[in-house]
Amino acid sequence: MSALAHNSIVAVIGSGAMGAGIAQVAAAAGYTVKLYDTRAEAVSKALADIGKMYAKLAEKGRMTAEEATAATARLQAAGSLAEVSDASLVVEAIVENLDVKRGLFAELEALVSDDCILATNTSSISVTAIAAKLRRPERLVGMHFFNPVPLMALVEVISGLATSEQVAATVYDTSIAWGKNPVHAKSTPGFIVNRVARPFYAEGWRLLNEQAGDAATIDAVLREAGGFRMGPFELMDLIGHDVNFSVTQSVFGAYFNDPRFTPSVLQQEMVNAGFLGRKSGRGFYLYS
Ligand code: NAD
Repeated sequence: MSALAHNSIVAVIGSGAMGAGIAQVAAAAGYTVKLYDTRAEAVSKALADIGKMYAKLAEKGRMTAEEATAATARLQAAGSLAEVSDASLVVEAIVENLDVKRGLFAELEALVSDDCILATNTSSISVTAIAAKLRRPERLVGMHFFNPVPLMALVEVISGLATSEQVAATVYDTSIAWGKNPVHAKSTPGFIVNRVARPFYAEGWRLLNEQAGDAATIDAVLREAGGFRMGPFELMDLIGHDVNFSVTQSVFGAYFNDPRFTPSVLQQEMVNAGFLGRKSGRGFYLYS
């Protein structure tokens, strides 16, 4: 095992749905975690939500009250990127946009030590491309968690063309230390899960466009008869329509506009309206 040493500091950049979940599992596994977001209120919300999650787990007997208190104490808010300079692993979970991710990693590379591993939680963007502008592209790897992070065991560890084997192995072993079941994968558009999931959403949108049924009916059919845990529309509400739309655009572009991956105009309208799903209180369904 070459997991990150237990006294290492992990930084999580982006404190939305995924960043908060990643911070929760890393701190529960014994690591000191620094959480940063350009919106300070996102960090405060994530820390409060994680505290509530630990309290619930303690209530259910899934961790002791002492473990919950200790894990909470290992979580820190970072007020600026400079405050994560002592991290041994940085996991990025910001907006799904190549240029923004590249800009963040360029800033980070100037701050962190030479042996710090840079990991991206991107759902679909080429890990090779994110790393390409770095001085040391071999230290960047995909560490792709699934939503909700505390419940979903799978982590895709994605190697770009320049990623070092040692870096991928450390992130793989660290995922195990965090209680996850990692797999190694290469950097292809959407990797494994998001590639095979695209037609699931695309057929859902086509059914809706053709008025075969409303979203609730299509979801119910796939759940009850298809054996899926969630139908496409409730799953997109969970993921966030902004994130899902960006992922489809990225896979569509990366496969040279293959019509199988054509993004939905209806989903674009939902993003335009701010109907992003659970995180905004309204998507296909209403959330209070
Ligand atoms: P989100 O919208 O819930 O959160 C993103 C956070 O990043 C926001 O709080 C935002 O303020 C912050 N942010 C944006 N730009 C930033 C920057 N330059 N520096 C620091 N913070 C910044 O999004 P999410 O669902 O958590 O997704 C984050 C990443 O994880 C994306 O790359 C997405 O594709 C990927 N991902 C998402 C899911 C999912 O189901 N939502 C699953 C796996 C991977």
